[in-house]
Order: sequence, then structure tokens, then C-alpha cells
Amino acid sequence: MNDTPIDLRSDTVTRPTDAMRAVMAAAPVGDDQYGEDPSTNRLQTRVAELLGKEAALWLPSGTMGNQVALKVLTRPGDEVVAARESHAAWHEVGGAAANAGVQIVEIGQGGVFDVHELAAAIKPAGLPVFPQTTLLEIENTHNRAGGVVVPQPLVDDLCETARAHGLACFLDGARLWNAHVASGVALADMARPFDLVSVAFSKGLGAPGGSLLAGRKDLIASADRHRRRLGGAMRQNGIFAAAALHALDHHLTRLAEDHTHAHLLARRLCAATAVELDLASVQTNIVIFRLPPHLPDATTVVARARAQQVLLSAFGPRTVRAVTHLDVSRAQCEHAAQVLVALLAG
Ligand SMILES: *Cc1c(COP(=O)(O)O)cnc(C)c1O
Repeated sequence: MNDTPIDLRSDTVTRPTDAMRAVMAAAPVGDDQYGEDPSTNRLQTRVAELLGKEAALWLPSGTMGNQVALKVLTRPGDEVVAARESHAAWHEVGGAAANAGVQIVEIGQGGVFDVHELAAAIKPAGLPVFPQTTLLEIENTHNRAGGVVVPQPLVDDLCETARAHGLACFLDGARLWNAHVASGVALADMARPFDLVSVAFSKGLGAPGGSLLAGRKDLIASADRHRRRLGGAMRQNGIFAAAALHALDHHLTRLAEDHTHAHLLARRLCAATAVELDLASVQTNIVIFRLPPHLPDATTVVARARAQQVLLSAFGPRTVRAVTHLDVSRAQCEHAAQVLVALLAG
């Protein structure tokens, strides 16, 4: 076990399984820009059905999905309300500003906020100096908050408040699959209050790439034009789509294992070290912990763990993230926990 690194940096590091590679090799393909890729068409139909939407569109990455959603639902100069430390604000190189020309207002704590915080963040219409607040974005699960699931009743209330103020609603569901498996809420119910929903295949589902946006036909037609404009329209994409279809069949329900493994790791860290870790926040496959002042900083901890073949991410000067996934077994998570406990206790 000690010669292969246990890679907990992200669930994006998963490699296609042999079975996935086999369906990729055999995938029927065509030119997707002519709408003639049968595998992509199947995937788009299937994801639209799963999410209870009229249509869905393939995109090469989740970042492009977020960029396209902003282009479809906002105009330059608009304001978007999102949870503090949302992916769109922190991990997309300023794309919201650079591509859609919008600014993001980050509110709440721990990946969530309530209807009062939302209402307070929406700039009153009719005052000529204010930007127009036109979009509510919810990230579910919320990555930087530790993979927390946004409770569905709250999601429904937030979207209702947003609509009452004339805002559109977008769900960044890169890890919506994890939220679905952890909460048991149907995907279509989670997607219902939103105009556009993105989901990713390159994270816990273990496909080599791809995200989809789902929504009303007219919005997806607009998304298609923006995708092309950003250079994201592809050709024989069926090779990727086949991997995504395979992932839906074989890797969706097993996400529960990743959640169990994350919780195991978190419990060990809580029991045997002084790291700051709220067990209640470990709801899916992400473990985020903070290093109190008497422990080494995140860069040091990450380097020391790496020397023992356990790979983690430094998420801040004193914040570390570990993510469980398809390519790490329970035994490997137990071993990683042992290494971290020794390193953080000593
Ligand atoms: C990973 C991620 C994205 C972006 O996906 P990429 O395919 O890496 O571009 C968007 N939103 C969230 C919440 C993510 O975790």
C-alpha cells in the first residue's frame, strides 16, 4: 500500500475503469455540432429526464457550464447572489466578471444562507445607481464549505424569494449526485426550482470529463450558442458521453461508500488530533479541517503527508481538504487516517 499514493486531493483524480474504457472504445459517435452524435444525444436526453427538465446540453467542463449559465441568465453589469466561497467566485479565475461581466455578492456561512440574508442582498430595483440583482446561484453540495448538502426546504424557500424579486435561479450541481445520494431527495425535486442546473461527470462519477446544463428548451438553445462562442462545442464527443452514461449506470449509487469513507476519516481525525473539524459538516465525500496555531500550517502538513504517500490539498493557510472517491478504498482511507493522526499528533 505504501508505494501507490492515496490521492485525496480531489474526486477529479479518478481514472476511467477498464469497463468504462471498453464502452468508450465501442461508443457510437457522430458530429455533435450537427447534433449527430448518438451517444451525446442519449446522454443529454437521459440527464434532462433525470433532472425533470425539457433539454440538456453537453459542456466540456463544469467551469464552462457555470460561465454559459451566467451568459444565458444575466446581462453585463448585473449582480449575482451566491453563498460565500462559491466555486464561481473562487475557482474560475474571475470568469464571471471576465466572460459574463457580472459581479458576485457572497453571503451566508458554511455554504448556506437564509431568505432574510438573500432578501437583504438583493439591491432594490428602481434606484439608478445600483446594479440589478438578477440571479440567485446555489452550489449543492458546497465544495469549500466541506461538501455540505443544502437542505431542500431551504433551497425551495430561497428560490421562491428570488422569484418574488424577479431573479432567475441557477444550481451549480457539480456534486448534485452526492447531495442526492446523501439526502435521498430525488434529482428532479432538487432541480425543480431552478431555471438552469449543471451537473458534472468528472468528479465522483469517475468519467474523464464533461458537465451538462439542463433547463427549458429556449434556455438550452441560448446555452448552445454561448457554448459555441466560448469554443466548447465538440465533434465525436460520444467517446466522452459513453463514459458518462456508464457512470450513471455503475457509479451513482456507490457514492454512498465515498461518504462513509469521508466520515470514517473525519471521525479518526476528531478523535485523535486537535484539528478543528465539524463532524456535522461531513455529509458527503469532502473533509475540510483547520489547523490550530500550535500545529504546522497547511503547506507543511500537505508536504509531510505527501512524503508518506497521502495526497491532500491546502485550501487556505491553515485549511486542508481531503476528498474520497472511486479510486480510494476503505483500507486506504483507514491508512490515510493513521498517517494523518501520527503526523498531527506528533
Ligand atoms: C469542480 C467544480 C466546478 C467546475 O468543474 P470543472 O469541470 O473542474 O471545470 C464547478 N462547480 C463546483 C461546485 C465544482 O466543485
